[in-house]
Amino acid sequence: MSIHIPNTNDDYRFLTPRMAQMEGSQILKIAGQVSRLVSQGKDVCNLTIGDFRPEHFPVPTQLVSEIKKAYDQNETNYPPAAGVVSLREAIADLYRERFGLDYGIDGVSIGSGARPPLYATWRLFVAPGDRTISFLPAWNVGYYAHLCQADHHFIPTTAENNFHPTVEQVTRALPNTKLVVLNSPLNPTGTMISKETLTGIAQAIVDENKKRRNERPVMLLFDQVYWMLFEQGHRHYSPVSLVPEVAPYVIHVDAISKCFACTGVRVGWAVLPPAIQSKMKFLIAHVGAWAGRAEQVATGAFLRQPQLMMQYMKEMREKVSLRLQKLYFGIQQMKASGLPVDAIAPQGAIYLSFRVDLIGRGFSSNEEIRNWLLEEAGLAVVPFQAFDLPEDSGWFRMSVGAVGLDELDAVLERLEKVIKSK
Ligand code: PMP
Repeated sequence: MSIHIPNTNDDYRFLTPRMAQMEGSQILKIAGQVSRLVSQGKDVCNLTIGDFRPEHFPVPTQLVSEIKKAYDQNETNYPPAAGVVSLREAIADLYRERFGLDYGIDGVSIGSGARPPLYATWRLFVAPGDRTISFLPAWNVGYYAHLCQADHHFIPTTAENNFHPTVEQVTRALPNTKLVVLNSPLNPTGTMISKETLTGIAQAIVDENKKRRNERPVMLLFDQVYWMLFEQGHRHYSPVSLVPEVAPYVIHVDAISKCFACTGVRVGWAVLPPAIQSKMKFLIAHVGAWAGRAEQVATGAFLRQPQLMMQYMKEMREKVSLRLQKLYFGIQQMKASGLPVDAIAPQGAIYLSFRVDLIGRGFSSNEEIRNWLLEEAGLAVVPFQAFDLPEDSGWFRMSVGAVGLDELDAVLERLEKVIKSK
């Protein structure tokens, strides 16, 4: 006999008020709705999740064999708090080669994916009531701000500016700010911050901190988890490579999750000033958010094989690009024929910014458009509201990691048909 435990939301009143208000990912909610429709037999092209279908985007085979080898060699105990030394060395070398930045291993802290270093950065620099800023739209920032009880300010950007902030916007917002959050290539828009803008922002942070006497400096959380995924003609920069004096204030957050299609392998890291690294290490250790030891050893070994890595990245970029470009050109053709749709040319990550300009023309919200696209065109996308943008402006994220190229032809046809019907 077992004791039945009833499930009652009334128990939420036992929680602290802030935790009772905590929300789960809106993207996962939408993904759940899509899965239900698919299981009922509906033909849906699922462009919702920022993840990969292994049949289209397998993880590097060499990494898999390194993981198996590491388990066979009994790499199964606690890893060191800051991470396995061979992995930290490989990451320090990667940042030296790619960004010209010599942090050494003392500037590298490992976690189980990008999220622990992200959360740790918030906790290290943000006390309750501290002013923090980020730009709209962007992935998950609101949840971290909520957890840290920050006085968070979301600053809107424009499609004309590829949904990145201008130097003026950032400079104006810096006084009293403790943390600025930037992400490039950007989730959800698939756009990259320009070299000039990033240089200007980095310089503004240096200038702001020169003015501060007794106040803590403003720090820059630079989330570059998609940095190896960019379209031809685009280039990714670290703010520290552009403005070396900003180094004491920058936390780079990175992972194998996206660039190597390894979302479930859970290896990520921060590259940051060495003195701060030791505190990040303690925080990650206190919550046990290490990456698995075998996965760390294997990632270190994989990153040490530049030839294999480069080959994998080349194929990965090509596959992502084919999908993004197909969607982009399909939508551009519809636009050219007078239909109320738009898209921003893909630049990086696995996303496309897609607009259906029907607000006020039969639709009053993005949510209505989203449901209509899902029901009528079998097209599943995520509205920018899931990335904290409040306005119903008709913008959506399309994510291409879980689709085959052939599925895209069919969905573009269906999309054109339903848009024409309006
Ligand atoms: N940063 C960005 C911009 C992301 O899109 C994601 C995942 N969606 C993460 C960080 C988190 O990565 P991880 O799965 O490695 O925790």
